[in-house]
Amino acid sequence: MTRVFNFSPGPATLPEAVLRQAADEMLDWHGSGMSVMEMSHRGKEFIAIHAEAEALLRELMGIPANYKVLFMQGGAIGENAIVPMNLIGRTGKADYVLTGDWSKKSAKEAKNFGTVRTAATGEASGFTAIPAQAEWKLDAEAAYVHICSNETIGGVQFHWTPDTGAVPLVADMSSDILSRPIDVSRYGLIYAGAQKNMGPSGLTIVIVRDDLLGHALPVTPSAFNYQLQAEADSMYNTPPTYAIYIAGLVLKHVKALGGLAAMEAHNKAKAKILYDYLDASAFYRNPVSPADRSLMNVPFKLKDDALDDAFLKGAQARGMIQLKGHRSVGGMRASIYNAMPVEGVQALVAYMKEFEAQHG
Ligand code: PMP
Repeated sequence: MTRVFNFSPGPATLPEAVLRQAADEMLDWHGSGMSVMEMSHRGKEFIAIHAEAEALLRELMGIPANYKVLFMQGGAIGENAIVPMNLIGRTGKADYVLTGDWSKKSAKEAKNFGTVRTAATGEASGFTAIPAQAEWKLDAEAAYVHICSNETIGGVQFHWTPDTGAVPLVADMSSDILSRPIDVSRYGLIYAGAQKNMGPSGLTIVIVRDDLLGHALPVTPSAFNYQLQAEADSMYNTPPTYAIYIAGLVLKHVKALGGLAAMEAHNKAKAKILYDYLDASAFYRNPVSPADRSLMNVPFKLKDDALDDAFLKGAQARGMIQLKGHRSVGGMRASIYNAMPVEGVQALVAYMKEFEAQHG
């Protein structure tokens, strides 16, 4: 068996130990005589799996007791509608900070449910920098302020937590959840698709402060109503059971590695190898302002776009896949989430040097 170094932005590489355990337990989970996939979500086996996954997430992220953890479906794009449906009703207005494609998409969707203002935008920099808090124009009557903590396409990431006063801060953390410690109490709501740092696609995590529940617009589908899901322990409808199980295994693995502080050190070390090389090279270029560079997604361009196909082909031949940049920006992108080993980044940089020596 040969495993590739998979630089996909998501679904993304998962820890090999987790995949092995899942394989071992596939036919018979803990003597139950069945696969997790075959279990009733209301049976005692799955309830234990679900409870353990939630407890691990609470422990690793330090989620305070006055926050609910919901395991939902619909992905982060679903949440772009589900968040305003549940939260905007309190005042009818919300502020969005635009830092790239994903936050722009969130704001656009929210307009279907209320008045959406742009509180700040990175447009002037071509979305290569996060607008400084001093430039934000916040509305004290907004029901919430929305940010995307890590723009998966543009490769810009918040390395500070905005201060939105009494207005709840809502963050799309799809591409950096579990990658570093955060202070959950600074947020009103956090959401994330699981398929980058937490497990397979199909599972959406929502962490929401209690006082924000109970304001859903009447149009909100019951399965997407946070209060109903909180009251039902995320079992108002059938949850994505197998994805929750795998997420639980990933969380256990992250805990064994030392938790989120250890993840942050590992991610910083990997990103440094890549950015140091990019900055020293005249052949490759990353456009993002150094202070706002993502530790998770590193976009870069070659000196000549005409070499892109040859670069990707050579990478593939060396067991490195999914390096093609998003179609909207072109070039390359290396997604180096928690489960990407340092050896993967070292192999990529070694190949980049080799390619530069041949074509530079
Ligand atoms: N937000 C961010 C930051 C993302 O990276 C993605 C997926 N790449 C999404 C939203 C959309 O997620 P999904 O396709 O799971 O709805």
